[in-house]
Amino acid sequence: MDPFTLQDRVALCDAAREVSTSGLVVGSAGNVSVRSGEHLLVTPMGSRLPAIEPRDCVCVALADGAVDPGHARPTRPSSETPLHRLVYAAAPDAVAIVHTHSHFATALSALVDELPAVHYVASAFGGPVRVAPYATYGSDALAEAVAAALDGRTAALMANHGAVALGRSAAHAVEQAQQLEWWASVYWHARVFGEPAILSDAQLDEVSAQHRALRYSEAATDTR
Ligand code: 13P
Ligand code: ZN
Repeated sequence: MDPFTLQDRVALCDAAREVSTSGLVVGSAGNVSVRSGEHLLVTPMGSRLPAIEPRDCVCVALADGAVDPGHARPTRPSSETPLHRLVYAAAPDAVAIVHTHSHFATALSALVDELPAVHYVASAFGGPVRVAPYATYGSDALAEAVAAALDGRTAALMANHGAVALGRSAAHAVEQAQQLEWWASVYWHARVFGEPAILSDAQLDEVSAQHRALRYSEAATDTR
């Protein structure tokens, strides 16, 4: 049974539009999902993210990938649905996933094995973000590589492809994807001039402690 309300579907479309308008994808690249219980709701295969209508999004069973029998539109679930399913299985706290082909993250994915902690924003992702080895889009091999790269992290780069970011809601996952792209661009620009200083694990731990001490995540934002 499809557990998603029309409001859930509208929120997913809003998030997908934001991914596009903030420049993280072009054309039909990228996809977004949210999970509820034993199902996920995902953007349709081959769609341009700003043009998706709520009923075009597809409810899929997490266990076996079956499309909800009540799905009435001709749309099919994103080709990266195997990745979304496996990541939800591996990351119990993730409520939403955004996949982008954002410019700097994608460029770096072909150059490095991880995105180093050149800025304290890394603490919001669990530390430096790994680059998952290349595999064909939509394949189980890509899903497995990305799920492994996400161990203890809330984002990963995908070699020669793009990036994924996890969140507590669709809007939060979009914000994380934007922060990840900003972080990748900062690292890129710093490297143009030399070897940037990188924050240590201890420094990132202090950032996490400061977040807790200030109760930073409770401060007003619309996505947390
Ligand atoms: P979909 O259009 O099937 O979601 O695929 C886009 C994409 O980015 C594949 O990696
Ligand atoms: Zn992709």
